[in-house]
Amino acid sequence: MSSGKLFVISGASGVGKGTVLSRVMEVREDLKFSVSATTRPPRPSEVDGVHYYFISMEKFQEMVEKDEFLEYDLHAKAGYGTPLRQLEEKLRTWNVVLDIEPMGAKIVKQKRPDAVLIFIMPPSVEELERRLWGRGDTSDEQIALRMERAKWEMDQRDWYDYTVVNDDLDRCVEEVLKIIAEKAD
Ligand code: 5GP
Repeated sequence: MSSGKLFVISGASGVGKGTVLSRVMEVREDLKFSVSATTRPPRPSEVDGVHYYFISMEKFQEMVEKDEFLEYDLHAKAGYGTPLRQLEEKLRTWNVVLDIEPMGAKIVKQKRPDAVLIFIMPPSVEELERRLWGRGDTSDEQIALRMERAKWEMDQRDWYDYTVVNDDLDRCVEEVLKIIAEKAD
């Protein structure tokens, strides 16, 4: 039986979710990150088992077949999934946050209706594209794909429980912390 609260954070890549989440988790030591599995290669700063479990497509498909994901999705030419057992274990003791995209978030909401869904919006589409270029670790083709995806993702925000705009990092972190305090405490 799980006792922690489940939070889901979504928002296009480049919106600053990672920074918001690490700031939030510095304050909320009871909030743990659910490490997803992905078939995409690691970025230079990413550590296996910390940011993601970097796995082969073969292993990903095996996990899908064995029903080992709470949810999974294939996008940007890669597979991404939430390993169920790891999540259940964390939820026994902690509140847990998933950083997943809207298709996955929708499935989580269906399977766990008491999950709290938060959508992080960029100040504008132009600013999002600028941030993606600034990151310098993604190809032109990947950026075009991600921008297309970002526009679709932003259209999904209506069915989230909360939308928070990341125009100012401190304010955005405060707002997310307030939601977590309301729902978890
Ligand atoms: P990135 O490749 O930039 O780390 O992540 C791309 C997108 O995949 C982000 O929107 C992120 O939230 C999403 N994502 C990461 N892990 C998962 C997961 O386990 N399931 C789903 N559905 N999406 C994920």
